[in-house]
This record gives sequence, structure tokens and C-alpha cells, in this order.
Amino acid sequence: MSMMSACILTYAFIPEQNREAKLMWLALMASILTLRFVDFIVWITHSSKQAKPSGQLGLWRFSVGCILTAMCWSAYALLFFKSMDIIEFSTTVIIIAAMAGGSSTVLSGSQYLSAVYSIIMLLPISIMGLLAEQDYRNLLGILGLLFCATMVLSGLKSSRFTRQAVTTKNEYAILASELAEKNSEVYNTNKMLKEATDKLNEIKVGLEQEVKKRTDKIFQLSNLDELTGLTNRNAFTRELENLIEKTVDSESSVALLFIDLNGFKKINDTLGHQVGDLTLIEVGNRLAAFTEQNRCGRWGGDEFLVALPYSSQETATSIASAIMTSIAQPMAIAGNELHLSATIGIALAPVHSLNAADLIQLADLTMCEQKQLGLRKPRVFSTELKSKIEASQIILEGLQQALDKKQLYLCYQPIQCAKDNTSWSFEALLRWNFNGQFIGPDVFIPLAEKSGLIKEIGAWVLNRACMDARHWQFNQLAAVSVNVSVIQLMDDGFIRILDNILRSSGLPPERLHLEITESVFVDNEKKIRAQLEQIQSRNIHVSIDDFGTGYSSLSQLQTLPVNYVKIDKAFVDNFENKGDAIIRATLFIARELNCKTVAEGVETKEQAMALSAMGVDYLQGYYFAKPMKNEDLIVWQNPISNFPT
Ligand code: C2E
Ligand code: CA
Ligand code: CA
Repeated sequence: MSMMSACILTYAFIPEQNREAKLMWLALMASILTLRFVDFIVWITHSSKQAKPSGQLGLWRFSVGCILTAMCWSAYALLFFKSMDIIEFSTTVIIIAAMAGGSSTVLSGSQYLSAVYSIIMLLPISIMGLLAEQDYRNLLGILGLLFCATMVLSGLKSSRFTRQAVTTKNEYAILASELAEKNSEVYNTNKMLKEATDKLNEIKVGLEQEVKKRTDKIFQLSNLDELTGLTNRNAFTRELENLIEKTVDSESSVALLFIDLNGFKKINDTLGHQVGDLTLIEVGNRLAAFTEQNRCGRWGGDEFLVALPYSSQETATSIASAIMTSIAQPMAIAGNELHLSATIGIALAPVHSLNAADLIQLADLTMCEQKQLGLRKPRVFSTELKSKIEASQIILEGLQQALDKKQLYLCYQPIQCAKDNTSWSFEALLRWNFNGQFIGPDVFIPLAEKSGLIKEIGAWVLNRACMDARHWQFNQLAAVSVNVSVIQLMDDGFIRILDNILRSSGLPPERLHLEITESVFVDNEKKIRAQLEQIQSRNIHVSIDDFGTGYSSLSQLQTLPVNYVKIDKAFVDNFENKGDAIIRATLFIARELNCKTVAEGVETKEQAMALSAMGVDYLQGYYFAKPMKNEDLIVWQNPISNFPT
């Protein structure tokens, strides 16, 4: 506005003589205004860079600029006062008044600036007008003074108002910026909180997964069998207890199946433990198909358990049969086709017991019984079996004290030479007088084997037999044949016991024969061979007992160091009924193996004659003599005089 007004005044009223002076004034005004403009730009840019513009210095600079401008205007009025005509003077007063008038609001931000500005602008020209000679100038001078006073007052008033407004505005701006700051703080805090929550959630999820993983691992370790993934002993017993409780409440019954594999040991021994492990896993998988995972357990080794809730005896038996069929299916394992079978014993709750551990034991005993009998079908526990088991328990307890109580003794049964009916050997047969009751070796020997007592008893038999034989007078060459159980033979200390007994008894080793049952040769061929070689190296002879009843393969027998084959009594009994064919075959094999033959259970002259005619080397049986005590043996006279003729 100042620049425009200055230009208008300069160029509208350009006199001839004052021309340069006016232009110089315009230049001065332009310079002041330019300086102010530059200062304004500097102030604006500087302020915008600062968070809070410092007002004081800027205000001073602005005020100085205003005052300089006002002084410049005043200078104009004073310099050109005299040369002005009425129109120029009036115009000048009007423009200056208008500028002053405008300042009362434009400069009202500073309390005194508008007043000072109005005074500097209006006062000199008004006074000059008042002091002039012309009346119109006096009038305009008076008006100028009045206007100046009005402007000063109105400037002061509007200054108060403006300052208040600016203060309020600034306060508002401060509040707004503080609010914005707080808002952004809140926003940032929220953001951080959200990030922290996300992170916490992530950690929580990770932790939950880790906890679950560990819980699963602990569950596995404490409840599952590591190899097959079936439940282990403890977990299965617990589950069975739960089932018994539930089913008994519902007046139903739980069946427990005790499953034992046949032929697993051979797989383990011949194909290695890795194949054995894979076989057990496969069996586990097959069993799991018959019940829920947690009702299928591994008891240990090749023994498994299956619990069937709400199951009658008939259902349990048919499921057990199905399990047997399933296990009997060939298994393809590590490039081998394997064949297994299973023996299963069944016990039911509540009929047989309400206790889980008892139930397992009963099913186990039933399974063992069935296995011993070699029967290939499931069997359910019964009271008959119970009394049998109880009787075995009594016998076993008695047997433990039998040696100490001197209840055991030996009987000897002659084995005659088929050619000349001379006594070739005497077989030692163990007898037990259990408190006046005679118990047969068929009953107690298996129990002694199972309990491990056979090692002690067997050593006693061997020692007694050698001692007795050492003192036999009737035939310096007659041997003693001692039955040796597989448990004894497999024992690492057996050879040492044998040596000790031979040394202490003084019996020449060639007068000792050991009888070993054929079934022994099925398993552990390597160990058996090593033991037999040791025995043979001492010049002790070995017989295969019960030949034809076991499962030994001819190829196995061919390489084992044995001297005699004992043809089982069953074949002699069945002599008329194809028994002779088997005997002929046995004789043929024995000859091939370079073994002599013994026939046992010869009860009649006809049998003795026929066997002798067939080429059997030695005969044993009631026809010649029953087993007798040593005291009877030493005075024994062979009653058969008309044999073999
Ligand atoms: P084994 O070794 O086959 O013994 C032959 C069995 O047949 C004996 O029964 C004997 O008394 C019987 N016997 C012999 N001749 C005849 C006959 O003409 N007719 C009939 N009906 N039987 C005859 P025992 O003494 O009852 O022995 C049974 C089994 O007990 C033996 O069979 C043997 O395996 C085992 N045993 C006996 N004593 C011992 C022993 O000291 N140690 C071991 N480990 N086992 C023994
Ligand atoms: Ca025998
Ligand atoms: Ca026999």
C-alpha cells in the first residue's frame, strides 16, 4: 500500500522544479520498503525453521521499519508542503490519513506502534496545516489532529483486542501443538504397546508350542514304549485299572490278552537286532488294528498286551484268534520274508480278578501253559488252570528245599547192547520223594528249568551219578548216562563243573555219557556247538535224546559233534503203526551221521527182537529193567537170558 501510494503521489503531482527531490524521496521510500520486505522474508523463513519463533527481535525490526516508513511519509509532507496546491495537499492529507487509519488495525498487534505510527504520520502535517496561512490548510490541520487523536485512541483499543486475540490464538496453538504432541505420544505408546503385545503373543505361541512339545515328550517317555510306540507297562496297567473300574460299574467284563511271539528269538539271533526291532514294530502295528492305541501295550521283549473292554469270553477268543492269524501273515522286513506265530492267554475281569496286575499275571500264566503244551489256539484262564498253577507253586517251593532235605535221589536204568545183551550204560533218572509223595521228573524238571533251580539240581545229579558209577563193580566198562538240561548246557560254568566232578569222582570221562534233548538244538546252535566241542574234547560221549520229537534240521545235526541218537519211546510204541518206517529212517540218518543208535521204551521181547534185527545198537526199557536205586543196581542180575537168540 505504501509503495502504491508513494508512486501515485510522486507521479500524479510531478512539479517542474522539485522533480529530482520527489524521485529521490520515492527511491528512499522504495529502499525502506524493499529493506522491510527482505527483512520480512528473512523473518518468515527463520521463524518457520524454529519451533517457537522469537517475537521480540522481529517486532523491533518491524517497528523500526514502520517508523522509518512513517518518517518517510512525514518527510514527504514537510519537504513538499510549500509547493503543494490545494488538490495535492488534500490528496496528500487523505492518503496519509488513510495510511494512518489503516495502521490503527494493521499495526494493532504492537501496543504502541499504531499510535506512534499515526502520530509520526499525521502530527507534523497537521501542525504545519494549522500554522499555514490558508484557511483550508488550517481546517485540514484541525481535522488531521482530531483524526490523529482518534487513531491513537482507536489504535490503543484495537491493539488490546488484537493482542488478546493473538494471545488466545497462540495459547490455542500451543495447546493444539501440545495436544498433537500428546496425541503422537499416545500414538507412539500405542504402537509400542501393540508391537510389544504382538511380540508377547509370538513368544506366548512359541512357549505354548514348546510346552506342548515337552509335555508330549514327557508323556511319550513316561507312557509309551520307545520302540513300538505302544503303551508301556505302567501306562497299560493304569489304563487296564480304569477299564476294569468302568466296565465293572456297567456290569460288563474286560478281557486281557497276553500275547507272546514264537520264533522271534531266532529272528533276533540270526538276522540281528535291527531286523528284530523292525519285526516288533510291525507286530505292534498289526496289534494296534484290533483296539484303541492306548489299550495295546508292550509288556517287554516279544510280549504284548491287548485290553478289550465290554468283551465276553467268546468275543475275546475270536479276537485273539484273529490276532494270531494276523501275526501269522508273512512279514516283509528289510528284504526278508519272516514268519512268526503267537501264543495268547486270556483272563477276564471281574470273573478271574478285579486287579489289573493279577489279571496280567493270570493271562501270562495261561499263555505259558498253552505255549508249553504247544497248542496253537488262544486259551482262557480257568479254575482248572488255577489249581494247576497253585500246585506248581507248591511243588516249586518244595523243590527249593528238596536238596537240603535230601528228598532227591537217583535211579538207574540199564541200556543193553543189542548184540550180546550186556549192560553198556546205566541212565541216571532223578526221583523226588516230596514228603512221602512221589513226584515224577516230567512234572518237576520243567519247573526246575523255569526257575533256574535246574543248575544246582543238575550239578548234584551229575556228581551223584559219577560217584555211584565210580564204585560199580559188575562191568568196568559200563558207562553212566546223565540227562542234561539245556539251561545247564548253556551255562558258562558247566564245563568247569563237569571237570570238577570228573576229578573228584575219579570216573574216567569215557564212562560218562550226556543225554541232551533234541529241542535244544533248535536255538543257540553256535553256543551249543562250542559247548559240545569242549565236552567231546574231554572224551565224554553225547546222545541226542528223544530224537524225532524236536524240530532240529538234519543239516544242523550233520555238523554237530554227537555220538548217539536215542529213538524216542513214542516210535517204539507205534512199532506196528508205521513206527518202524520212522525207525528205519532214523537208523539210516544215524549211519550217515556216523552215530550209533539207542531205542528206549522197549517193553516186549518182540520189540527187542525186531529193533535188534533192524540194526539198532542199544536197547533200553522195562523189558530189561525198570529204573532202580543204586543199592538195587549193584546186586542186579540181568533176568533176560534168552535174548538176542
Ligand atoms: P528220558 O530221558 O527220555 O527218560 C526216559 C523215561 O522213560 C524215564 O522216565 C524212564 O523211566 C521211562 N522209561 C524207560 N523205559 C520205559 C519203558 O519200557 N516203558 C515206559 N513206559 N517208560 C520207560 P522218567 O524217569 O519218569 O523220566 C522222565 C524224563 O525226565 C526223562 O525222559 C528225562 O527227560 C527227565 N529226567 C529224568 N531225570 C532227569 C535228570 O536227572 N535231569 C534232567 N535234566 N532230566 C531228567
Ligand atoms: Ca534220557
Ligand atoms: Ca528219551
